[in-house]
Amino acid sequence: MDMPPAAAQRPAPAVFILDCDNTLLDNDAVKADMDARLETLLGEALTARFWQTYEEVRRQEGVVDLPATFTAFRPNLPDEATLDQVRAAIMDYPFDTRLFPHTLATLDYLRTLGQPVIVSDGDTVYQPHKIELSGLAVAVQNQWVVYIHKEDHLAEVMARWPADFYVMVDDKARILAETKRRLPDRFVTVQILQGHYAGDAFTPPPDLTLGQIGDLQALDLPTLRRYLSR
Ligand SMILES: [Mg+2]
Repeated sequence: MDMPPAAAQRPAPAVFILDCDNTLLDNDAVKADMDARLETLLGEALTARFWQTYEEVRRQEGVVDLPATFTAFRPNLPDEATLDQVRAAIMDYPFDTRLFPHTLATLDYLRTLGQPVIVSDGDTVYQPHKIELSGLAVAVQNQWVVYIHKEDHLAEVMARWPADFYVMVDDKARILAETKRRLPDRFVTVQILQGHYAGDAFTPPPDLTLGQIGDLQALDLPTLRRYLSR
């Protein structure tokens, strides 16, 4: 009997490596909402102190780390109950209400071209929590990973999701430039001009810039392949 074709073992033609914050999820709006929740709870001065602590921890660790931020902020508060309320204002946020309008439809579309996965930068507690609670984990069939700096883990990403080529989609031009510089023949880079990093410029520039995540639905594989260097 003839062997069945080895299609099942063949890599996906394309894997779409999607960022989370300000790419699939409106994280600027999440932060603004959290700021308003904290102000109701703590008042203006302590809320400002909270975000100052958040930035200090981010500077020290090179990444947002909310568990460490809560610990560092505790001495500013009268009791543990208030810290629990601060933690709840942030961790119990309804993240699913802040997906961009076309995020889920776009993930469905990308599945017709290849495999969409999420590779996000962030801490190992808050960022996975956000990806789960937003519904994004289910939307990518649990194919997601969080790194502190994703551009340092391209080999792991390629080993985990074998593909003919990769399309990296991110709001940060810095990450896209670093990826394209390292692997120009394997990665097509797409910047989504959403969020407060949209104005940043780096070399090489992204292969494509799109106004919003839903604009990916206008692309097809032959168009994307043209951006791979030979
Ligand atoms: Mg982002």
